[in-house]
Amino acid sequence: MKKDDCIFCKIANGEIPTNTIYEDEDFRAILDMGPAAKGHALLLPKEHADNLFELPDEIAQKALVTAKKIGKKLVDKLGADGLNIVQNNGEIAGQTVMHFHIHIIPRYKSDGQKINWVPGSPSAEELATICKEINA
Ligand code: AMP
Ligand code: ZN
Repeated sequence: MKKDDCIFCKIANGEIPTNTIYEDEDFRAILDMGPAAKGHALLLPKEHADNLFELPDEIAQKALVTAKKIGKKLVDKLGADGLNIVQNNGEIAGQTVMHFHIHIIPRYKSDGQKINWVPGSPSAEELATICKEINA
């Protein structure tokens, strides 16, 4: 299903022209308009899903394999030194466009970017409590 008011549905299905770096029957990959680094790409499924939890398993499986293939191409063609794969779900997690997408970000020693978090320092007991909570 496509969603009428969704810009990524329109881009993924070719209704809005964009810089396409990969396309198959399920996905289109485009260049991000606000790139973290040269070649920052977005992998968009052609069918709408708000986020990872709504994405059909079959598409979720294909998405990582496809992101791997595109990431390899970006690294090889652009001479990148590394690669980040980023995928945000929900506003608090940094999702701004509510159509599932994977960021594929080539990284360069000189890019000056930080795609990081501030590490916490929980005690061993706190980690064990969280582990119990998850496994309960
Ligand atoms: P997120 O914060 O994970 O939802 O990422 C949304 C990304 O989409 C951002 O990196 C934006 O720069 C990018 N973006 C939004 N609109 C467009 C567009 N029309 N074409 C290309 N990239 C876009
Ligand atoms: Zn959509």
